[in-house]
Amino acid sequence: MMLNVSRRQSRQIELLTPAHHEAGHAVILVDGGISVESVQLFKSERGASRPYWGHVSTGLEVEECSRQQLEVCGVCAFAGAEAEAFYLMLVGFTQAEALDLAYSGAEDDLATLFREVLPRLRLQPEYLRSSAANAVHAQWPRIERIAAVLAVRMQVGPRDLG
Ligand SMILES: [Zn+2]
Repeated sequence: MMLNVSRRQSRQIELLTPAHHEAGHAVILVDGGISVESVQLFKSERGASRPYWGHVSTGLEVEECSRQQLEVCGVCAFAGAEAEAFYLMLVGFTQAEALDLAYSGAEDDLATLFREVLPRLRLQPEYLRSSAANAVHAQWPRIERIAAVLAVRMQVGPRDLG
């Protein structure tokens, strides 16, 4: 990490980065009418490139999605990285560094998007990405609040996501 921060601040950033990422996914799903069962953070195995990782559980199967739900999933795929990048800028990274870091951690999200969502949805990835960035900015106070709870409890449920 290039920032000049204390070890304690650095640990906090390591935890809050995936917390904002997962909160970004969750807010888009909830606002798009897709219910979220839980959002969780997990400690990575020793030696992993990121000390924590996260997961959002929904009861949704991509094969059964309506077109509107698929579009929500498409925006959601970008919202994790966009929320993560916005958080990293707030703690002092440049926009280029923040986007680079955030998108390097979003490979699985984008792989799923290209494999499962985009073949069924004729929309440009860039359109979904800018929708995600706009939604993340509009919902930022809520994303921050969810991320803060997630970083403490390592799990949030439907009641925390409103
Ligand atoms: Zn993600």
